[in-house]
Amino acid sequence: SCCTIKRYCSSRHQSSMKAVIALGANIGEPKENLDLAIALLREATDVHLVSSYYTTAPVGGPEQPDYINAVCIIDSALPAMDLLSLLHGIEKSLGRERVEHWGPRTIDLDILMINDIVIDTPTLTIPHPQLHNRRFALLPLHEIAPALHHPVLNKTIHELLLNCLDTLDVQKK
Ligand code: AMP
Repeated sequence: SCCTIKRYCSSRHQSSMKAVIALGANIGEPKENLDLAIALLREATDVHLVSSYYTTAPVGGPEQPDYINAVCIIDSALPAMDLLSLLHGIEKSLGRERVEHWGPRTIDLDILMINDIVIDTPTLTIPHPQLHNRRFALLPLHEIAPALHHPVLNKTIHELLLNCLDTLDVQKK
């Protein structure tokens, strides 16, 4: 039936979904937190590529430690909202583990892109609305996928990085 075909096509489509995930941490052991988050991602998805880790100067605040940022590309059959839930689960499990020692925000996980999908809802915007403004996301993504195409701005990651006005200091570790 029509419905079966649709389901078949949609599951075939979903099985080849490449999602770009941004990771950031600046509390406790940020590098270790990124390692742990990637290990948890590997349990639920196929992690294809992981960028180097980058040290990002804090934007403001007197005693903010440096951030460690990275991006990875995963292959996942999860629908976008389920992927977001997975990321929230990983954030919670890392936060919970260290909540007494380091406070609640040990890792931040964002979906930057999923293939050429465009989503704009109150809880999920894809591509991530700040991707093109953030050097700490563009630089690691440029390392692993410079030719990736932004479906809304219609530019490659390489072009977005060249046009990015963010002057924040981002250093490859
Ligand atoms: P924050 O605490 O600043 O990391 O914001 C997290 C919230 O942003 C989540 O609860 C999501 O509902 C929302 N959000 C919207 N778009 C995205 C996205 N592309 N990736 C991750 N979170 C998103």
